Amino acid sequence: MLLTISILGAPGAGKGTQATLLSKKLGLPHISSGDIFRENIKNQTDLGKLAKTYIDQGELVPDDVTILMIKDRLSRPDCAKGTILDGFPRTPAQAIALDEMLKELNTRVDLVPFIDVEDDVLINRLSGRWTCRESGHIYHTTFNPPRVQGICNIDGSELYQRDDDTAETAKHRIQVYREQTSPLIDHYKNVGILEVINGDQYIEHVCRDIMAVVPKKFKK
Ligand code: ADP
Ligand code: ADP
Repeated sequence: MLLTISILGAPGAGKGTQATLLSKKLGLPHISSGDIFRENIKNQTDLGKLAKTYIDQGELVPDDVTILMIKDRLSRPDCAKGTILDGFPRTPAQAIALDEMLKELNTRVDLVPFIDVEDDVLINRLSGRWTCRESGHIYHTTFNPPRVQGICNIDGSELYQRDDDTAETAKHRIQVYREQTSPLIDHYKNVGILEVINGDQYIEHVCRDIMAVVPKKFKK
């Protein structure tokens, strides 16, 4: 049975952290649009070069490129049972495109957990975020430190601070989120699949609250 979950929340709300945990618990691939862009930047592809100009400014990458990228990713065999989407959709046009992509597969978005966190908490989280160079595993200097400073627990790769996690760019990204992404809260509320999750709790408790709203038939 197909299950599509799209995690919604401001930059720093905990989407990537929770998507990683849900992906393990539900056995579904974690698809992060930000991670795919960063992978393309690392490999210096044309998509990466284009995306970098937007990401460095804290702006969204244009819808057409982003939609094509996700369409390609969703067409891979590992998505046959469903996906945990992290950071997509981020605009109303992307939400419409996602519905169309899923309709072709005779399915739809089943659940949108909205991780709700205050702005001042977001800034603290982004400024302390460290990301693994190899596969994007996420840490925080205070809230989720690695066992060995600067090294990923999982694959031993170096941790780095993202260029767009500076205080100034982070503030701008939160503003962009308010303008372009937050309308999706009402959109999915109207569809009847939005679940508001208190994101200002321990990582494990946020995960527990999300798992509580995943329909039973999808749990292993
Ligand atoms: P965060 O985890 O802080 O929310 P992401 O890693 O999801 O950030 O995204 C980083 C950047 O990549 C965004 O600021 C934006 O420039 C770009 N990006 C990611 N997803 C999308 C999307 N769905 N549409 C447009 N741009 C995106
Ligand atoms: P997003 O993908 O929404 O931008 P992340 O999952 O990357 O958010 O989390 C942003 C930062 O906050 C990371 O440094 C992460 O370790 C930390 N973090 C995530 N969830 C929590 C939480 N519930 N409490 C404290 N820190 C958290």
